[in-house]
Amino acid sequence: MYWADKLLENFDKSNNYRVDDMKTPSGHAHAGSLRAIATHGLIYEALKDAGYNVDFTYVINDMDPMDGLPVYLDKTVYEQHMGKPLNSIPSPDGKAENFAMFYANEYISAFNTLGFKPEIHKSSDLYKQGQIDKYIRMALDEVEVIRNIYKKVAGQTKPEGWYPFQVICPQCGKVGTSLVTDWDGELVTYSCEENLVEWTKGCGHKGRISPFGGTGKLMWKVDWPAHWAAMNISIEGAGKDHFSKGGSRYIAAEVIKDVFKTDPPFGFLHEFLLIGGAKMSSSKGNATSAAEFVKILPPQIGRFLHVRTPYQRAINFDPNISNTIPDLFDEYDRCAKVFFETGTETDQGRYFQAAQINKDKIEPTFLPRFRTVATLVQMPSVNLRDYFSNEKGSSLSALEIELLEERVVYAKLWLERFAADTEKFNLAEETPIQVNVLSESQLGFLGLLADMLSTKDFAEGEELQQAIFELAKSTGIQTKEAFAAIYISLIGKNHGPKAGWLLKDAVAKDKEKYISRLRSII
Ligand SMILES: [Zn+2]
Repeated sequence: MYWADKLLENFDKSNNYRVDDMKTPSGHAHAGSLRAIATHGLIYEALKDAGYNVDFTYVINDMDPMDGLPVYLDKTVYEQHMGKPLNSIPSPDGKAENFAMFYANEYISAFNTLGFKPEIHKSSDLYKQGQIDKYIRMALDEVEVIRNIYKKVAGQTKPEGWYPFQVICPQCGKVGTSLVTDWDGELVTYSCEENLVEWTKGCGHKGRISPFGGTGKLMWKVDWPAHWAAMNISIEGAGKDHFSKGGSRYIAAEVIKDVFKTDPPFGFLHEFLLIGGAKMSSSKGNATSAAEFVKILPPQIGRFLHVRTPYQRAINFDPNISNTIPDLFDEYDRCAKVFFETGTETDQGRYFQAAQINKDKIEPTFLPRFRTVATLVQMPSVNLRDYFSNEKGSSLSALEIELLEERVVYAKLWLERFAADTEKFNLAEETPIQVNVLSESQLGFLGLLADMLSTKDFAEGEELQQAIFELAKSTGIQTKEAFAAIYISLIGKNHGPKAGWLLKDAVAKDKEKYISRLRSII
């Protein structure tokens, strides 16, 4: 059973549900982050498909402090902002509202591409509009309960006078450096500590301030459940880092129950999406970003990657291994075939359906194999529409033409960025050195081929392909040997795509050159 459908057994149709995901916009979101939003998005869609009352939200944790500098940012510009809330730091492009929104928008646009369009909420708005005030009061009043939770769940002993709240220092603007030492029911007493954290220094300012309306924020493990409670979030999973023993998820779940007096959302641990075998942090510049990642696959194939693997299992996706992308397309096509034959009776059919952004109108379509498209786009003489309508046995529908064009775009991209050299069939500019291995009978065949090409024009690759077959037959050479001779002399490899079209391309490009090459070899 499709994993998202299986999860439905935990939910009751008479309830309303809100699926939520949240993230701190501290830099370019890594491609691996897409696992979280895709898992939540697919659960939301499965609930919706099954007729549940459900909505989908995404929270930008823009009040979190900048606690590390991504390598691609200028240290001399950004070091002074370390410790400030991300929404009070200038945007790197000077255009976005602030630093947080610059990176949040980039990530939102990436997951929108995949068809996931949750309602967007900013944590700073919730704080400023007073929606978190109630929970701030509860957390400060019940600080002893929270201290006990930290002790019980994580074995951490918080010092005397510790409060789970940080004021945004009115003097230096930093939130990561401030320490609350007292709460009188109205105001908190705070100090901006020089050495509270290793990554930045506070200014030493001290004072008393109301903690409400956005003057500060709850610490993460209390802030998270405050958002759950304030937004009525009923389903929210997290990566396994949050689910480690004594991790934030377990503390947050206790805080919402014992302090905010409501139930935690249904939680689940989703595994990582590993790009190229490693989970890379978004603050390291070498990571593949989510924004880049969504460009290498069509949206429905990008979704399929998340659909076909249960959230409990890691996805290892290495586009740099030449077969990775073509294999994914093949698997998608197999599922499509099953869907068009038997609908969603089997998991494979359901996978295909769940991978579609618009599930309402899925018409049976002929899908040109990605690998074949990638080979044929390298041969200008091949008319792809004719080729595939021939393979299909009837003309392509408008949608099929659209899908073919889409695959052409992604095939070209794959060839350019990820395909192994063995997949590329560029006509060699110079006579390849490999011609030395050609046998006597192969050389004889090439001589006859040169004669044939100089005396006869071929309108189509197909026609030339046929002529090559017949020529080989008439000379008694094995067809395989004959074709290898053509590949070796044109592209320096002993295998290749359709020889007729390849030769047609060569002749179209420079008839003289390639005929004299064949003659020079023999
Ligand atoms: Zn300060």
